[in-house]
Amino acid sequence: MDILPICLQILASSAKNSCESWRFSVETNDAGVWTQIPATCENYVKKYMNGHRYRYDSDVVAFDASAFAETVNVSGDGMDACVFDIDETLLSNLPYYATVRYGLEEFNQTSWDKWVDLAEAPALPASLKLYKEVQQLGFTLFLLTGREESQRNVTMKNLKDVGYSNWERLILRYAENLIMRNYFLLLLFYKKYYYL
Ligand SMILES: [Mg+2]
Repeated sequence: MDILPICLQILASSAKNSCESWRFSVETNDAGVWTQIPATCENYVKKYMNGHRYRYDSDVVAFDASAFAETVNVSGDGMDACVFDIDETLLSNLPYYATVRYGLEEFNQTSWDKWVDLAEAPALPASLKLYKEVQQLGFTLFLLTGREESQRNVTMKNLKDVGYSNWERLILRYAENLIMRNYFLLLLFYKKYYYL
């Protein structure tokens, strides 16, 4: 009996399992801040993002959100609001991530900004459907993103080109927010290493 194919199969399945566990930890926000996917997970992420599963997962989440929205008695005074994130929520940056080995390459701000400036990110279909559904129900829509204020015009163009419209406000990150965040992180660092 040739043992090599069996060993390869076991290796492949354990790599898949460990990548699934990693994804679970990311989804539940236990993984914390991370900048690269695990080296063994490039194929796993590629298959997940390009296969049916990502679409199904998005569909289920959007379906549940829509079902909840339908239970809300929208008053019509504009105070019932839905807040949407943009990247990997309203827009998919899959074409960009395909160029950086699905996140195996460390995040690069310059190449990311170039991609954002193209304004060519496709809509995530489940999110576009949900967006239109809650809009139809009468919710006020806010878009909240980690993109910077300087990217407002290209972000608006991208959103409109793929079918999003009539949001109440698009809230982007100001440069000052970044300074404040770095200052806060510095304080945490100082506390951790000088007081503990
Ligand atoms: Mg996002």
